[in-house]
Amino acid sequence: RYQKVLEENRKLYNQMQDLKGNIRVYCRVRPLIGQQNSCGVVGSVEEESISLVTSSKNGKEVKKTFTFNKVFGPSATQGEVFSDTQPLIRSVLDGFNVCIFAYGQTGSGKTHTMSGPDNITEETVGVNYRALRDLFCLLEQRKDTIHYDISVQMLEIYNEQVRDLLMTDASNKRYANLVPVSSTADVLNLMSLGQKNRAVGSTAMNDRSSRSHSCLTVHVQGRELSSGNGLRGCIHLVDLAGSERVDKSEVTGDRLKEAQHINKSLSALGDVISALAQKQSHVPYRNSKLTQLLQDSLGGQAKTLMFVHISPEPEALGETISTLKFAERVSTIELGAARANKESGEVKELKEQIASLKATIARMK
Ligand code: ADP
Ligand code: MG
Repeated sequence: RYQKVLEENRKLYNQMQDLKGNIRVYCRVRPLIGQQNSCGVVGSVEEESISLVTSSKNGKEVKKTFTFNKVFGPSATQGEVFSDTQPLIRSVLDGFNVCIFAYGQTGSGKTHTMSGPDNITEETVGVNYRALRDLFCLLEQRKDTIHYDISVQMLEIYNEQVRDLLMTDASNKRYANLVPVSSTADVLNLMSLGQKNRAVGSTAMNDRSSRSHSCLTVHVQGRELSSGNGLRGCIHLVDLAGSERVDKSEVTGDRLKEAQHINKSLSALGDVISALAQKQSHVPYRNSKLTQLLQDSLGGQAKTLMFVHISPEPEALGETISTLKFAERVSTIELGAARANKESGEVKELKEQIASLKATIARMK
């Protein structure tokens, strides 16, 4: 009977994940620098929506509300932000492909979410490290039934050119260098090598990192010990280039070229996700290097999570609105508030059932 309850729990859980859909958009609001917990132009933060306070021509305050699958306010911790992505990480070991993106203007907190701040501690490490730690922990738990091989890859896309960040050989003739790893410590070493390589050849590292996409990919290959059956899954953790628009009248030369490449690839990504969210028959993968590279992990059974970051400063308002509009375009939520409500009602019901099953399990132990 215990097994049956466990099985039922797992079934409900999967049902809940299905209801949440394969494309999710979460919003994270950065705190005002130097003022923890302050919201700036962000008027209110609910679990699934945020409101911006803007003023109109006649000086009246205007509230604009945007809806997401989940919203994290300025006081949300790295741990809280990660806890919702945990089921996605687990699905990689079951053979699913997953993409997690950080989108937003430069300075909005993308790198903070994915990697953490400059001086990382156990509390402040980002999604990348937590995801890998979880993977290694889970495969240890499953080691009596499945053998897993894990390897990682780190790429940078700059001006539509792909560069391997884990190549020790500077010629970089090929990319897709997969490095086998057996512990989170291995991965940390590779990540710092990647960071160093990213800085090479650029005079201002921060500039470069805000104008290129970086992608950490973890490939998982599993073999079931009893049957010999194999499975493959992978997760792409992508810190996107800054989404800010540049004033074309002010930039020329290399800067203009960079801006055009970023613009092109972010809108190509938006087009792909929005085509998938609307279940269109044609998905335009071929319009950028980023979407070509991730093609196998976007759509189909693959799961996508986009963290949309916004800065609360009044000066950032224009970019914040355009970021939120991008987010709305790629999310399914706007397709029908009624459906979204119905779904969140069903999710709530499932959550309650799961909680009561968990209590049963605890009692049976
Ligand atoms: P981006 O990668 O989008 O350019 P960063 O992640 O570098 O932005 O964030 C800009 C600055 O704001 C950094 O100093 C970072 O540590 C800080 N920051 C970003 N998000 C948060 C947060 N949620 N809590 C505290 N500090 C943050
Ligand atoms: Mg960054």
